[in-house]
Amino acid sequence: MSANCIFCKIVAGEIPATKVYEDADVLAFMDIGPVVKGHTLVIPKQHFDPLTATPEPLLAQLMAVVKKIAAAQLSGLRADGVNVMQANGAAAGQVVPHLHFHVIPRFVTDGHRWNWAAKKYDDPAELQRLAAAIKAAVT
Ligand code: AMP
Ligand code: ZN
Repeated sequence: MSANCIFCKIVAGEIPATKVYEDADVLAFMDIGPVVKGHTLVIPKQHFDPLTATPEPLLAQLMAVVKKIAAAQLSGLRADGVNVMQANGAAAGQVVPHLHFHVIPRFVTDGHRWNWAAKKYDDPAELQRLAAAIKAAVT
């Protein structure tokens, strides 16, 4: 448990949450500020952050639960689609620094639009430069 971590406090039962799934390592509960109603968070019970510092076997367990919740939103809420999102760092919009996956049910009528403004590279060489930098850093 990490001191002052709100999600660790939820795991410890120190603050309330509406749980929808739980096993030995993973917890899923309702987000109190839903982007779309039904928005669910999937977290490891142990404190890890960010994604890149989280062991791969645990990430596999988390993704299996993300799949369960997405399927449950499709069947149980009759959602038309699901978004899965995850932020790392304040620059990426992360507010709670305990790894979590947002599983967000989507409905053709929900009216929600992501502010997903696609940009352009200055030229093809810029795309190639960035690709080369990522490729060289892949371990
Ligand atoms: P992020 O911006 O990716 O760090 O998302 C944090 C999410 O946690 C937000 O969607 C919040 O609405 C949600 N949240 C914060 N506190 C609580 C809480 N006590 N119970 C449930 N969800 C919470
Ligand atoms: Zn925590």
